Amino acid sequence: LVSRKWRVQPTVLDLGDGVTIGEGTLALCAGPCSIESEAQMEKVMTHLLENGVQLMRGGVFKPRSSPYAFRGLGMEGLKDFHRMARARGIKIVTEVMQVSQVEEMHDFVDVFQVGARNTQNFNLLDALGGVDKPVLLKRGISGTIEELLSSAEYVFSGGNEKLILCERGIRTFETASRNTLDLNAVPILKEKSHLPVIVDPSHGIGIRDHVPPMALAAVLAGADGIVYETHETPETAASDGQQTLNFDESAKLIRNLRRVYKLR
Ligand code: PEP
Ligand code: MN
Repeated sequence: LVSRKWRVQPTVLDLGDGVTIGEGTLALCAGPCSIESEAQMEKVMTHLLENGVQLMRGGVFKPRSSPYAFRGLGMEGLKDFHRMARARGIKIVTEVMQVSQVEEMHDFVDVFQVGARNTQNFNLLDALGGVDKPVLLKRGISGTIEELLSSAEYVFSGGNEKLILCERGIRTFETASRNTLDLNAVPILKEKSHLPVIVDPSHGIGIRDHVPPMALAAVLAGADGIVYETHETPETAASDGQQTLNFDESAKLIRNLRRVYKLR
């Protein structure tokens, strides 16, 4: 069902308030790795609105390699995120980690993110097949393109056709970067599937200074959008500061992404 053989026309998702994801527009989504405080959200939201970005990412349930690392503000943080985003016309993209969270998070999110560690959590995918909100499905840490499409098929065949595929880098033998951003996946996914394809260069390379060029390359490779991490002071971010852009870097990237998109 997610194949071009089944649907030739590209799928375009309409999130309302003029926000669309899919062919014809460049979807931009940015925000901190983790939601930390109201003051932090206020600053990020102001930055995004100043730059014409209406989609904000931010985790409240964080999958961390160490149990001692910051694991997110949970539902209380999400409720604050929702209240502040609604007041400003911003849409929320945030990660859901388990089946029981789908229902409790439902009314407070605009897009459910499935993280790379959960791409093959088939119970979670089944549960998301039953909701009426878009799902941003990340490629698994060591997942093939075919496995990503198979995971998308779970959600789609469950009845939820609002899906976005996300390349975020895979684990390879290379250790110079956090992951290996597989830009090959972009044209291949676009050819195989009618679903929108976006790229996350932040997790894809994991090194702040190299995020912008990889984001631009992803757009030239045919991505329908970019999701990346930004924070007022990346050095103090609760997670992933090393790959997070400050607001000046972020504003410059947004300008360049729009210019490059027009060249396609
Ligand atoms: C994130 O978006 O902050 C995240 C944890 O991403 P991934 O699942 O791609 O590692
Ligand atoms: Mn992160």
